[in-house]
Amino acid sequence: MAVLDKEFLGMGLEVQRFENALETFFGRAAVCVNTGTAALHLALQACEIGHGDEVLIPSLTYVASFQAVAATGANPVACDINPSTLTLDWRDAEKRLSPKTKAVMPVHYSGGAGDLSGIYAFAERCGLRVIEDAAHAFGSNYKGARVGANGDIVCFSFDGIKNITSGEGGCIVTGDQNILRKVRDARLLGVEKDSERRYAGERSWEFDVTAQGWRYHMSDIMAAIGLVQLGRLEEFTDKRRLLARRYDEQLASFPRLSRLPHNYSEVVPHIYPVLLPDGADRKTIRSRMLDAGVQTGVHYQPNHVLTFFRDSDALPLPVVDNIAPRLLSLPLHPDLSLADVDSCVNHLIGALNG
Ligand SMILES: *Cc1c(COP(=O)(O)O)cnc(C)c1O
Repeated sequence: MAVLDKEFLGMGLEVQRFENALETFFGRAAVCVNTGTAALHLALQACEIGHGDEVLIPSLTYVASFQAVAATGANPVACDINPSTLTLDWRDAEKRLSPKTKAVMPVHYSGGAGDLSGIYAFAERCGLRVIEDAAHAFGSNYKGARVGANGDIVCFSFDGIKNITSGEGGCIVTGDQNILRKVRDARLLGVEKDSERRYAGERSWEFDVTAQGWRYHMSDIMAAIGLVQLGRLEEFTDKRRLLARRYDEQLASFPRLSRLPHNYSEVVPHIYPVLLPDGADRKTIRSRMLDAGVQTGVHYQPNHVLTFFRDSDALPLPVVDNIAPRLLSLPLHPDLSLADVDSCVNHLIGALNG
């Protein structure tokens, strides 16, 4: 309400406050933008990835990750996943290296970062930048440190369903001063030092532009919502973990259904996917559950089968091809109760048994 009363709705001091709070949270600078997709796009552009370059990326992700790469003119190279964590398999990614490969974009599926150390070791060996798509992982830890506190460039989303939301929004977190400088300008149409002027309560009327920029800045309205949500992270985290642990307990007696091996003292579960048994008819199961009032999700259709991203010369992706059609995400959000979880499990088992 303070932002609305002030009637300055664009990017100003509230965005600076949100960025300062995020900097405290991560222990290094964050730059806010209007979506997670924009965060990925700007991070790639700041690494000077563009036309003809290649970026290694797991096929099992939201299409946003692929489109962010394509937006730079580079080609997203779909890679296979680790069957246990459903995150990038860097050994598979290594087979897809070419002289054009410039970066790798691991996706922290459901909040777990998979073998992130292995991915960084691989990237270092091959001279690749790492842009982490941490849209699922706000609040998660990896090996005792917050996701975002370390690593090359880490991008988050604050869209309406993420662990915290600003309505729509995202941020880029990095210790690389050069990248920070570039993305601060690039989110405001490339207008040099416009972020700094806005944070001083001024406007830029005369300026230079030296690089391609986009209209990707966050508004003060979004930042105000984000700040309140950040203050509630612990509450949301506790609830998500409580619900996911309950799913784990309830599903433990159904060994035909596989679950992610999350350690909930580290991971904040963003989604709760189960792997249906081979031959299960997901479509029928989903429609039976919907008839019972339980909406389920599919995270995700693989990207390498989409018309725009298909590559007939690519090596096969056997793990993702086998797993993706059997993934079913059960409801998971902080407004659910433990009784809701029990009921979702009962409906799933009922739907499986026909
Ligand atoms: C949500 C999401 C994004 C994109 O974030 P937006 O804020 O919706 O643009 C990117 N990658 C993954 C894995 C996501 O879940």
